[in-house]
Amino acid sequence: MKIHRKQISEFYRRHTPSIKVPLVLFCIFICMVPLVIQGRVLASSSRQAQIERRIIDVQNQCQIVSNKMSRNGYLANSMVDNAGTDAELSMLADIFNGRILIVNSGFKIIKDTFALSEGKICIASEVIQSFQGENTSKYDTQKHYFVLAIPIAENDQDADPTISGKTAGVMVVTASTESMFTLEEGLIEKASLYQLMMFVLVLILVFLVTGIITKPFDTITLCLNRVAEGNLDEDISEESYRETRRISRAVNRTLRTLKKVEQSRQEFVSNVSHELKTPITSIRVLADSLMGMEDAPKELYQEFMSDISDEIDRESKIIDDLLTLVRMDKASAEINVAQGNINGVIEMILKRLRPIARKRNIELIFESMRDVTADIDEVKFSLAVNNLVENAIKYNKEDGWVRVTLDADHKFFYIKVADSGIGIPEEFKDRVFERFYRVDKARSRETGGTGLGLAITKNVILMHHGGIRVESTEGVGTTFMVRIPLIYIP
Ligand code: ADP
Repeated sequence: MKIHRKQISEFYRRHTPSIKVPLVLFCIFICMVPLVIQGRVLASSSRQAQIERRIIDVQNQCQIVSNKMSRNGYLANSMVDNAGTDAELSMLADIFNGRILIVNSGFKIIKDTFALSEGKICIASEVIQSFQGENTSKYDTQKHYFVLAIPIAENDQDADPTISGKTAGVMVVTASTESMFTLEEGLIEKASLYQLMMFVLVLILVFLVTGIITKPFDTITLCLNRVAEGNLDEDISEESYRETRRISRAVNRTLRTLKKVEQSRQEFVSNVSHELKTPITSIRVLADSLMGMEDAPKELYQEFMSDISDEIDRESKIIDDLLTLVRMDKASAEINVAQGNINGVIEMILKRLRPIARKRNIELIFESMRDVTADIDEVKFSLAVNNLVENAIKYNKEDGWVRVTLDADHKFFYIKVADSGIGIPEEFKDRVFERFYRVDKARSRETGGTGLGLAITKNVILMHHGGIRVESTEGVGTTFMVRIPLIYIP
């Protein structure tokens, strides 16, 4: 069963119908079904009316003959010469292509226009009913004939047996309606031909109309194909319908986002190459100058080699940071969350960084409002806080201070890293989280920065579903504020 369904969906995927198919089917249905139904209803009601008219017609004529027979005493007096009436009956039967039987009060057939059943007994229900003075009629829809039974009154009575109540005999008339249908079939054939013509006409019209209706969608597809070929500047402006306008706008928005992504990708690639090239250029300059020097003193060699080693360290730090970022950028970036003691993590980081701070006589203060335990990826979280505190030391003044504050409420924990450093100019505040962005390139290089630290920090915090913002006053200091949920919900 499963395979069967799979096969069906595979077939549907391969032979997905055009939107024109349901449109065409719908239009044909709407146009043709009422036409066909109307034709059928008209045919059937006209057939009914014709049959009824025919029955009444025959009944009237037979009634006249019946009255005449009654007056002539056709049934009462066998001595009377009935030849005239018999001829009239035969003629009448011929006219409506039927058969007439005359049944007397003993249910004996005394006259049959087909001359087949004379002398036989006829006790059909219509005959019995008719002996009570009623006109009866019955139509056989299967075999297409009708039966009429008309009472013949006694000759000394009033001609109408329904009034006198005395019936001497019954005239039974059977007639076929087949000939009427041969005529009708011709009409139906003509109507079918007309319907077929209408169908072809509707089909052509519907194809034309659906072509016009779906044209804007073809235009959009054409534009999208051009975009797929790499022309991201293409703007889709198909506004024929509200729907196509909505599609156009959504696609244009997507294209703009794609363009931005493409631009930032290109920027990133050029930044990466630039950043990776810088240490290599320095190494080359240092090595070239050493090679160009004849009899250079050993101290100079050592100094140059130490510079080369620093540049190699820098190159490898950039590569490490880049790898960290790329790994975190992946959609499937893993985060190994576990309950961790935030106070402990911060204390560890400060302990590690204290020797660097001490070199510039910077005081490292940790203020914890409470003991905080939260869901974190300890390795990544440590890296993020480490970057913030390291920056606070790097971009600080001699004899300055760095204060790390930890607090929490029922939902989040908050870390503030404040420093008494050089600050960040207002206009660059939002850009410091960008990759490779550095306010003061020279200073960053001097302190061994790669321009990737804050980008990594922001990524880590976002992975923890948290947020980060910065407040800073140039020359006074900077405060980074981090907020992370205590419970990680994947
Ligand atoms: P870097 O490796 O250059 O430190 P970051 O991404 O960590 O790169 O920081 C980006 C830039 O933001 C830095 O170059 C610096 O100009 C600025 N910055 C970061 N932290 C601070 C701070 N605490 N005080 C002043 N400027 C800062």
